[in-house]
Amino acid sequence: MNYETVIGLEIHVQLKTQSKLFCGCSTRSAYERDVPPNRHICPICTGHPGVLPRPINRKAVELAVRLASAVRSSIHPESDFDRKNYFYADLPKGYQITQHGKPLAEGGFIDFILDGIDQRIDLNHMHLEEDPGKSKIEGGVWLVDMNRCGVPLVEIVTQPDLRSASEAAAFVTEFRRIVRYLGVSEGNMEMGNLRCDANVSIRPSSSDPLGVKTEIKNLNSIRFLEDAVNWEIKRQIRVLNAGGVIKQITIAWDDQVKEGQLSREKESEADYRYFREPNLIPVAISEAFIADASIDLPELPARRLRRYIREHEISPSDAVTLIDERSVADYFESVLMIYSGATKRAADWVRNHVLRALNDPENAFNQINELPVTAEYLAELLDLMDAGVISDALGPQIFQKIIETGRSPKQIIEQEGLRPPEEDDLIQIIDQVLADDPETVRRYREGNDKVLNRLIGQVMKQTRGRADAQKVRCLLIERADAL
Ligand code: ADP
Ligand code: ZN
Ligand code: MG
Repeated sequence: MNYETVIGLEIHVQLKTQSKLFCGCSTRSAYERDVPPNRHICPICTGHPGVLPRPINRKAVELAVRLASAVRSSIHPESDFDRKNYFYADLPKGYQITQHGKPLAEGGFIDFILDGIDQRIDLNHMHLEEDPGKSKIEGGVWLVDMNRCGVPLVEIVTQPDLRSASEAAAFVTEFRRIVRYLGVSEGNMEMGNLRCDANVSIRPSSSDPLGVKTEIKNLNSIRFLEDAVNWEIKRQIRVLNAGGVIKQITIAWDDQVKEGQLSREKESEADYRYFREPNLIPVAISEAFIADASIDLPELPARRLRRYIREHEISPSDAVTLIDERSVADYFESVLMIYSGATKRAADWVRNHVLRALNDPENAFNQINELPVTAEYLAELLDLMDAGVISDALGPQIFQKIIETGRSPKQIIEQEGLRPPEEDDLIQIIDQVLADDPETVRRYREGNDKVLNRLIGQVMKQTRGRADAQKVRCLLIERADAL
């Protein structure tokens, strides 16, 4: 029997603020490895009796509003905080401050492209909340780290619009790009800056009512998400085909064994005994605040991707590489503004040379704005090659020299004597190469064109790669034929 899969995601994103949501503690542990446990904590975020939350971190609200505005979510002029009560070792207060009744924003959508097809997934709502701490069992001891307690989160909840694990993966990939483009989160899944819960159900056909869903908790990599959802779809199909029913449970994904662990039946909403947080006033968000938070909203990555494919005729897979990081795409566009040659050539250079230099552990920079080969320098280098001032073969070498010296392509060409040889000099070199290798010349003259490459290679070597290979070829043929 065939089934249709239905997936809805709840994604938690840590907002990139300096301090926590309701106290002044640093959020550093979310971005740096090796922060000792329980280093950035205070009585507020560890829930000492009688302490009160500070007024909300304004920057967190600003970042959440920026995100809401970018995905066209409608922001409520006023939203409230509630307590979600539950007991867990990493939740010292015994409740999490979240937004339940009146969340920050509702609706909105996220566009992405999967296998060349435009997709739009609607959002249900978006709310602010505080992160709980972390706990783990090690050597039979339960360890608790409260550094994360109170780190600001925004949670976005999608409609049950996704239809496969790969669609869910593409959605999260796009969402991660968006938060990074907007600068609202680092979006580093390994560090836990972005985690998602996947709600999964199946039904015989798309005209049937939705099936009972299960919830896979806390997936912190896109591959885990895909594996876990596929595993769960198979499990549900097995259960239904065996005449069973799906129970509404939560599942923890174990990536070691690639299996889900079915846990407790899900709490119902009543179990959390939500009520208004009495120590916080509502968050009032004015039009002016929204306008400020939304200043300079960038073109979103999916739009950029579509534009590159349509306008620049860049292949979809190359275009994805270019748009993945906003800084790289911005760099590419700066090159295009200055460079007078073909877009494809600029794209290839950014993908091959620029990205390789960025990813090379030998290089001390890891951001494109630290790369000595600025957009201006790359455009200059490409223009010099196109104009034949230097040979194409020398391009990568000069690129590397710019990285080493920080000098401009023109300076390097002058100082290193990399201009191509004058034609007279080139002819002299060619004649010498021909004279030195009479055997190869004989074979060429007998009609064996392939040996020509050996002679060209010799000339290029003599000129230290400065000569234009095409020109060498023409001159060689001319001189050899005239012998
Ligand atoms: P709950 O109250 O159990 O948390 P919600 O209605 O708040 O459920 O939805 C939580 C998430 O589950 C949302 O992303 C929603 O789109 C998704 N979802 C709801 N019903 C289903 C279903 N039958 N199958 C798959 N996902 C679903
Ligand atoms: Zn604190
Ligand atoms: Mg819910």
